[in-house]
Amino acid sequence: MWLQMSLLCLSCLTLSSQSQAQDRASLRRSNDHAGRCHYTFTVASPEESSCSGSSMKPEKDGVLSRLTLLEALVSRLIAGVDGSVGTGVQANGEEGLQEAYSHVTGERNQLQQDKERLNRQVQELQRRLAELTQEAETLRQKPCQQTHTSGGTQRENRPPASDTAYEFGNGAYQEMKAEVTEVPASHLIPERNHNFTGCGELQSVGDPVLHRKADSITGKYGVWMQDPEPQGPNYTNKTVWRIDTVGKDVRQLFAYEDMDQFSRGFPMKVLVLPEPVESTGATIYRGSLYYQRRRSRTLIRFDLASESLASRLDLPHAGFHGQHPYSWGGYTDIDLAVDEQGLWAIYSTSKAKGAIVISQLDPERLEVKKSWETNIRKNTVANAFMVCGRLYTVASYTAPNTTINYVFDTATGVGRAVAVPFKNKYRYNSMVDYNHAQRKLYAWDNFHMVNYDITLGRASHGSS
Ligand code: CA
Repeated sequence: MWLQMSLLCLSCLTLSSQSQAQDRASLRRSNDHAGRCHYTFTVASPEESSCSGSSMKPEKDGVLSRLTLLEALVSRLIAGVDGSVGTGVQANGEEGLQEAYSHVTGERNQLQQDKERLNRQVQELQRRLAELTQEAETLRQKPCQQTHTSGGTQRENRPPASDTAYEFGNGAYQEMKAEVTEVPASHLIPERNHNFTGCGELQSVGDPVLHRKADSITGKYGVWMQDPEPQGPNYTNKTVWRIDTVGKDVRQLFAYEDMDQFSRGFPMKVLVLPEPVESTGATIYRGSLYYQRRRSRTLIRFDLASESLASRLDLPHAGFHGQHPYSWGGYTDIDLAVDEQGLWAIYSTSKAKGAIVISQLDPERLEVKKSWETNIRKNTVANAFMVCGRLYTVASYTAPNTTINYVFDTATGVGRAVAVPFKNKYRYNSMVDYNHAQRKLYAWDNFHMVNYDITLGRASHGSS
């Protein structure tokens, strides 16, 4: 392009230098031999008006000076093309900008990643803080409530301030507990019959067998179980169910294909419950999960096949959310249980003054069929379960060697002390329930999900 321009300028200079002679120029037009029109343009030399033989030097000098001028101009223009510093600077500048931009972009991406990572850390810390706060609250409520079975004394829990009924009648409970701890175990254990497979009285509990240890704070306590009478094709008696109950909005029900998958910790499904779960009293029976709704005396039947709420019941007069818990607290006011005879609720009421009340429930419609009032106070025992229509209570949730210390037979309405050895291997047992199909007790002991073999035998003491 620069060369073209220089040639154009050369023409301009030439024309300019010839402008003086333009008044002497002429244009002639004529036809050639082929009949085409020809134009002839004639212009005189600037130095002469005729072609006489006078000296050519002035004209030569003029041409030479013009050529020198043009050469200088051309070399300047060429130098501009070849050594264009400005273009180089521009190119270098663009390259530099590109590099800086990509550097800044990289830094920005890195910062965004850092920000996301930190946000995740903050959320995780907030979640853990909430859980620890919840646990601290629970522990504060029950600071020193271990049940001391070995020494024969049990601490009374302070009754709820609102319930003045508890100000009276403590003497009767003290008397009953003294009886519980003073009866020699050897007088209570009936003749053993290890081949007995029918319904009978609890003879012995084996050592705990570990199946799974929870790996986070949410697994400190919870519920795990198998359905003794499963229904439908989706779940079997091999399916294992688990709820981690630490936290304020517990709604996740984990399903594991079998015990092996449960032990490895990989659920096949997570069901989301319509209402949050309170504490560790839930149970699974005939294709439904039964549980206490948080901060209420409402029991819920959740159908596992349709994953929907099937029925609900406000358990009449039942204490809830810390009114009548087991000795470890944890809002264990209403404990649901299943045995050979069906579905049961274990709880207490103001009228029963904190003594354990048992209600047999219709599992389908979730209605109370019949209730019994026992003579053992709920907050003096660690947990309870039903076997063959009999209620059994565990004396301590922390003592590594404790006992099943009481039985109440719903067939006769009579309760009495027993002393069947029971082990809290991990020293914080928050749930104990019976599975009659497996003939085992299932428990959640301080992050550890364990079960125990049991033996039943023909009952003694005339309680059938
Ligand atoms: Ca229980």
